[in-house]
Amino acid sequence: MMILNSSTMKKTKNKLLKDAAFVNGKEVKGKKTFEVINPATLKPITVMADLSPKEIEKAIDSAYTAWRKWKDTPIERRSNILQTWYQLIVDHTDELAEIMTLESGKPLRESKIEVNYGGSFINWFAQEAYRTYGDQIPFPQQGKKILTIKQPVGVAAAITPWNFPLAMVTRKVAPALAAGCSVVLKPASQTPLTAIAIAHLAKQAGLPDGIFNVITSKDASGVGTLLSTSTKIRKLSFTGSTMVGKTLMEQAASTVKKISLELGGNAPFIVFDDADLDAAVKGAIAAKFRNTGQTCVAVNRFLVQESIFDAFAEKIKQKVQQLQVGNGLKKGVDVGPLINQSGLQKVIEHVEDAVEKGATILTGGKAMKGLFYEPTVLTDVPLTAKLAKEETFGPVVSLFRFKTEEEGIDLANHTEFGLAAYFYSENIKRCWRVAEALEAGMVGINEGAISTAVAPFGGIKESGLGREGSKYGIDEYMELKYLCFGL
Ligand code: ADP
Repeated sequence: MMILNSSTMKKTKNKLLKDAAFVNGKEVKGKKTFEVINPATLKPITVMADLSPKEIEKAIDSAYTAWRKWKDTPIERRSNILQTWYQLIVDHTDELAEIMTLESGKPLRESKIEVNYGGSFINWFAQEAYRTYGDQIPFPQQGKKILTIKQPVGVAAAITPWNFPLAMVTRKVAPALAAGCSVVLKPASQTPLTAIAIAHLAKQAGLPDGIFNVITSKDASGVGTLLSTSTKIRKLSFTGSTMVGKTLMEQAASTVKKISLELGGNAPFIVFDDADLDAAVKGAIAAKFRNTGQTCVAVNRFLVQESIFDAFAEKIKQKVQQLQVGNGLKKGVDVGPLINQSGLQKVIEHVEDAVEKGATILTGGKAMKGLFYEPTVLTDVPLTAKLAKEETFGPVVSLFRFKTEEEGIDLANHTEFGLAAYFYSENIKRCWRVAEALEAGMVGINEGAISTAVAPFGGIKESGLGREGSKYGIDEYMELKYLCFGL
C-alpha cells in the first residue's frame, strides 16, 4: 500500500491500515484517489480509492446477491460470526486505536475506549440476533389465528460521520447483520480507514463476501443520492448533520425506504442550585470535552442557576485550564485538534460572535497552531449568540444564567433539536419533574457519560428518527409481518 506519511507509518507497520475500498470481500483500488489527512499534523496518512458511481452500483449488486443467502443463514451462525468479529476487534485494539487517532485526531486513550464501545455493539447484537421475537395475537372471534414474524428488511445502506470512525459504523452494521441484512457503508471521507480495517476483520471472522461492503468516495452528495434512491436498497441509516439528513430523507422518499436518522443536537446541561457542584463539574468535562467537543451529544449550552453560577464558573474554569492540548498520539493529551479547517473556523466564529454580543472569556478563546483551539470558557453568553442556537462542535464551554426551574427547562427546550440533555440536582422530586419535561431522546441525570450499547440512542424533534443500540436497535433493520391463518 502507498503510505505518504512514511515517517509516521513506517515506524508503526500497522497491517490494518489499507488504501482501498472493500467490496464483495475484495480490495478495490479505484481509478481515482483522495488523500486522508491527519488533522494533528495536516499531513496525508495515505490515499484512498475514490470509487466511481459504476463501482458503487457494483457494490450494491454484490450486497443484494449476498443478502439472499445471508437472510436464510441460521441465526446461530450469524451470531457466531459476529461474536468472532467482536473478539478480533478487541484483539486488535492497539492497531485500530492508532488508525483512529491518525485519521480523526482524537487522543489515543479515547480511541481505545471507542474500540471497546464500538465493539460492544457487535457483542450485544450477536446476542440480540436470538431474540427477534414475534407475537401470537388472540383473535377475538373464532376461526382465525394471528401471528407476527420479523424478517430482515434487505440491503441496508449506512452513511457515517468522522467523529466516531468505529462506533458509528458498528452501531449500524452489527444490528443489520444480526437481523439478516447485508450492508453498503459509506464512511466519512475524512475517516474511512478504521471502517475498512474492521471490514477486513469481519472477513477474517468468517463473514461471507458481499455482506459488508465499504465504499469510499469524495463525492458525498453523489453517493448519498445513489444510495437513497437505489431500488435494491430497502433501508438507509444515516448519522450526520440535520441538513444532510433532511436531504437524504427527501431522496429516500422516492423509494419509500425505511430510514433511521441520527442528526445534530444542541444539548443543554442544567446545573440547579441543589446540585453537587463537584459532581456536576466532573460530568460537565466528560460531556463537553470528549473528542474535543465534536460529539452529537456534546453539551452546547451550560444553563446554571443564578445562586451557584459564580461558584460553578470558577470550578469549571479551573478544570478546563488543566486540560492538555496536543497530538492525540502523545501521552497525557486530553484535547486533540478539530477535524478540519471549516470545523476550526466555526469555533472561531462562534466565540467571536458571542464576545461581540457581550459574553466574557474566562479562559482560552484563541486558535492555536494548525487545527488546535484552546479549551475555552465563556460566561454570560447572550441567547442571541450563535453558540446558543447552533452546534459549535468544539472545546468551548458557554455558560448561561437562569433564575427558576421553569426558566431553566424553557431555556433547555428552546431549540429545534432534541438529542441529549443533562442536568444535576440532588432533589429526587425535581429529578423526575425535569427528566419528564426535557424534550430530548436521552437524559443524563447527575451523569455526563450516557452512551452505551445496551440503551436506546436517538433523538426527537429535528435530531432524528429511530434508535440505535439496545433491544430496540435491531427492529430498525427488520420488517414486521402479520400472518392470518384461517381455520
Ligand atoms: P458532519 O458535520 O458530521 O461532517 P455531514 O452530514 O456533513 O456531517 O457528514 C456526515 C456524513 O454524511 C459523511 O459521511 C459525509 O460524507 C456524508 N455527507 C455529506 N454530505 C452529504 C450529502 N449531501 N448526501 C449524502 N451524504 C453526505
